[in-house]
Amino acid sequence: MPYLEKPSPENSYAKTHAALLVSSYKRFTGKDLLPDEIASGDIPRVLFEAHFGLVSHNTDSVPVFNYGNQTALTAFELEWKSLYTFQCRSIERYRHGRVLFAGDAAHLVPILGVRGLTSGIDDAGNLAWKLAAVIQGIGGDRLLDSYSEERVFAAHENISQARKSTLFMTPPSRGHTLMRDAALSLAVAHEFARPLVNPRQTTAIVFPTSIINTPDTLGGDRPPVGATLPTCPVEWRDGNRTQACHLLDHVRLRPTIVQFGDHRAALAEASSGHAVDVVTLLDRPDPAFDGPCLIDNWQRARAVLGASGPDEGILVRPDGHIAARWTSPDVGFIRDALRRALGLEAST
Ligand SMILES: Cc1cc2nc3c(=O)[nH]c(=O)nc-3n(C[C@H](O)[C@H](O)[C@H](O)COP(=O)(O)OP(=O)(O)OC[C@H]3O[C@@H](n4cnc5c(N)ncnc54)[C@H](O)[C@@H]3O)c2cc1C
Repeated sequence: MPYLEKPSPENSYAKTHAALLVSSYKRFTGKDLLPDEIASGDIPRVLFEAHFGLVSHNTDSVPVFNYGNQTALTAFELEWKSLYTFQCRSIERYRHGRVLFAGDAAHLVPILGVRGLTSGIDDAGNLAWKLAAVIQGIGGDRLLDSYSEERVFAAHENISQARKSTLFMTPPSRGHTLMRDAALSLAVAHEFARPLVNPRQTTAIVFPTSIINTPDTLGGDRPPVGATLPTCPVEWRDGNRTQACHLLDHVRLRPTIVQFGDHRAALAEASSGHAVDVVTLLDRPDPAFDGPCLIDNWQRARAVLGASGPDEGILVRPDGHIAARWTSPDVGFIRDALRRALGLEAST
């Protein structure tokens, strides 16, 4: 697996973690833990002691917090210890014919970004519906290529964020330490510095150029094609039956069209021959509308979807990513968008 960043003494987790230990040790003991002591001592044991101090709410009850004193370890038994070196690695393609790579077999992400397992789960979420569609014959082979393309893009994004987080939490140089400390102190009083303090905060990855997207021409405040569909409370209604729910509850195992206004005839024509769910979203209850629909009772859907026009629509993939958007339901446009999202040939 190629390295995106070669391990070196500068990015060694053991070394950078030692910097964190020096500051935590001092915070709990008031004493300096000298770099020489770390270098000559047993880093995992020091690390364990420091963490033991960190998790205690009452420092008085912590056993003698004295580096080099074995009595500090009486409250627990050390079962296992190890050193961890962070790695930024990804293979170039996650699809090799009928073999698909996911999780740590495809990419290795520094753990301080806490995205290793979560990105593996995202791989699975991205792949599962595509694989099912191809096996069932309702999706084209291109879907599997899109898995590789999207998830390699995501791995690079995750690795870059996790690397940032690692450098923040365990600054490897004086410059990084200076930046980290400045961000921490500024964040106390200044709003602008707060997002810098926790680089581990994560938002869903956007695939702006996926081969199964229909290019976005709408712009504005709308979540773009490739982003995940935001959710909001709505009311499900079918005749006299109603139920409070969320928009995302209606995105299931098939591609879903979320359409403002009653355009069921056009959508039935556009999706004919494909397994698609259609969700009609109305601004307010309409006694003339027969059949199930969602009502934007709390006026949230238009806001979160950035939908200003009366007849806007969105094609959503089973994994929640937006595959296409339109301002009025054009049958040819929607048919092509749907076929593209299923990895099939589109006419344009
Ligand atoms: C110390 C540490 C802390 C972490 N903290 C976080 C965190 O906070 N958040 C986060 O998101 N991620 C975290 N991670 C990363 C996360 O643990 C991994 O990304 C995740 O476990 C990878 O899952 P996986 O299923 O892809 O691979 P693995 O968990 O490695 O599973 C692969 C499995 O395949 C088995 N196997 C291997 N070869 C064969 C074979 N030939 N035949 C049969 N079975 C085989 C292995 O035994 C293993 O059980 C952390 C990792 C470490 C090391």
